[in-house]
Amino acid sequence: MKEYELIIIGQGPAGLSAAIYTARAGVKTLLLGCDPKVAGDYDIDNYFGFPETITGRDLIARGVAQAERFGTDLSCQRVLSIHPAEDGWYTVKTELDEFRTCAVILATGVSRKRPVIENLEAYEGKGVSYCVSCDAFFFKNKKVVVAGEGIFAANQALELKEYTPHVSICTMGKEAAINGDFMGRLAGSGIEVLNGKILRLAGEPGLKRIIFEDGTERETDGLFIAMGDASSIDFAYSLGIFTEGVFIQADREGRTNVPGVFAAGDCVGGFLQISKAVGEGALAARSAIDYVRSHCRR
Ligand SMILES: Cc1cc2nc3c(=O)[nH]c(=O)nc-3n(C[C@H](O)[C@H](O)[C@H](O)COP(=O)(O)OP(=O)(O)OC[C@H]3O[C@@H](n4cnc5c(N)ncnc54)[C@H](O)[C@@H]3O)c2cc1C
Repeated sequence: MKEYELIIIGQGPAGLSAAIYTARAGVKTLLLGCDPKVAGDYDIDNYFGFPETITGRDLIARGVAQAERFGTDLSCQRVLSIHPAEDGWYTVKTELDEFRTCAVILATGVSRKRPVIENLEAYEGKGVSYCVSCDAFFFKNKKVVVAGEGIFAANQALELKEYTPHVSICTMGKEAAINGDFMGRLAGSGIEVLNGKILRLAGEPGLKRIIFEDGTERETDGLFIAMGDASSIDFAYSLGIFTEGVFIQADREGRTNVPGVFAAGDCVGGFLQISKAVGEGALAARSAIDYVRSHCRR
């Protein structure tokens, strides 16, 4: 397994700013993430140092070039999970690879997608879960459905299979965006992919059935939400990081409550702008550099 001192997740302004600092300080850094939403033909008029308008695409391309110049390894891979290892390091799994790292900076922006299901909130904690690592244990040998259309959902379903043989995926009416390799693993594990859209949930006192838009029903004890890509909130749940709503809690230096895990940019909330993300990326980088120097070098 490839090893890095630091993995940064997110190729937006926060992640790139952090990478410029860490790589320049000699920390072996891998940045995982693809072009952020702002890297399109959007005019950026309010970022320091560009009196002429710059497009988001050009700004991000400049950040990428600068991070690479100092030796950051960049790779457009989606992270599916982060798990602590016994020695205090972390295993970061993507759709293509698996890495070991001593420290992590979360810079994934705000991306949590919730499915539109009429009474979803009423069942949170009563069968509806957002965290396989936290809650799978409670569903041993029970019937569970993972709501999600992508590889993140597929990976969650495969992790659930360790606890129960009764796992299926519901794409919520979307076309499944699961590549051949993962599709093969789902089929090999007997995980059914349903394409219907869940309208509402039923059962007393906890979840017992899901009801689809076409009126059909399915017996279910657990519904795990894993729409779109894994977000910082998903990583926070599985690592035990404190959160506030959809945001991660970090101190002014970008430190979360979990040793070796830092966060910056939109994923920690506040003013959702490039200048703030860049500043926080630098602060989280400084904390991560200190951590790597004092904890990760043998
Ligand atoms: C269309 C648009 C226009 C904007 N215009 C302005 C503007 O003019 N001025 C301004 O200051 N701000 C603007 N903003 C806001 C600004 O873009 C954000 O505040 C800023 O980009 C936040 O930076 P970030 O690095 O925290 O997150 P983001 O830029 O959102 O980057 C998040 C990164 O994380 C990656 N990621 C997420 N999940 C995963 C995963 N599971 N695995 C791997 N990678 C992952 C994404 O691919 C992306 O690279 C605009 C935003 C948008 C969408």
